[in-house]
Amino acid sequence: MERQGEMALISAILKPALDFALPPRCPICGILVDNDNRFCLGCWQELRFLSEPWCDSCGVPFAFERTVGSVCLNCLEHRPAHDGVRAVVAYDDHSAQLVTRLKYGGRLGLARLIAEHLVKFSLAVPRDSVIVPVPLHRWRLWSRGFNQSVLIGRTLAEFTGLSLELDAICRKNATPPLYSKSAKQRQKIVKDAFTMPGSSRALIAGKTIVLVDDVYTTGSTSNACAKVLKQGGADKVLVFCWARVLAGEDTI
Ligand SMILES: [Zn+2]
Ligand SMILES: [Zn+2]
Repeated sequence: MERQGEMALISAILKPALDFALPPRCPICGILVDNDNRFCLGCWQELRFLSEPWCDSCGVPFAFERTVGSVCLNCLEHRPAHDGVRAVVAYDDHSAQLVTRLKYGGRLGLARLIAEHLVKFSLAVPRDSVIVPVPLHRWRLWSRGFNQSVLIGRTLAEFTGLSLELDAICRKNATPPLYSKSAKQRQKIVKDAFTMPGSSRALIAGKTIVLVDDVYTTGSTSNACAKVLKQGGADKVLVFCWARVLAGEDTI
C-alpha cells in the first residue's frame, strides 16, 4: 500500500515532464495534433459545449431563451445551496475521457486545458473572489498522489489573478467512491463530510467563492461544500467544472 502511494506520487511528479517531451496528442482520442492540450477536430465537434441560456440557480442549459434570472423546475422545488454551476461541456462518454486521463492516467497537463476553458466564466465574478478546490480526503490524496481539483484551481488562479485557498474547507470523512450511488445515497454520504477550520472564516467572509471540481454529477458534493462555506460567511458559491451531468442522462 505504501509502495503504491509512493509510485503514484513519483508518476505524478514525473508525468508533466513526460507530457512535455512527447509529441502533442488529442487529450480524448490520442491522435497526433499540432499543439499540446488541443483537441482534434473530430473530438472538438463531438464535445457538447454549454452556453447560455441556462438556469440561474444550477446552470442547466435551457433549450430556448428565457428572462434573466429564470430557474429550472428542479431548482424551484429544491433550491441548491450553491449559487450556480458553470460547466464547460455536458458529461458523456466522450468528455469523461478527459477526466479519466487526468485522474487515473496521470495526465496532469490536462488540468491546464480545463482551467483555460474556465477562464471565460471567471470574467463574471468579482475580482476579490476566492478559488476553493473541492478537497480530497488525505487517504485518497495519498493513494492518488494529487488532487485534480487543486491542479485545475491553481492554474485558474494563475490565469485570472484570483486568490486561491487550498485549506478553506477540508474533508473530515473518507467517503466511498460515489459513481455507482444514487442522488439520495450521495447526499447522505457527503452530508457531513466537509468542515471549515475557524481560521478560514476571515479569508472567505463576504466573498464570492469559486468552488472548483472536475465533474458535477448530482450536485451533492458541491452542495455539501457550499453549505459549509456559506455557514462560514461566504456570500456566494459558484461551482466551476469541466463537465456536468444533465438531467435524464448517464451519471457516473
Ligand atoms: Zn481526438
Ligand atoms: Zn436549476
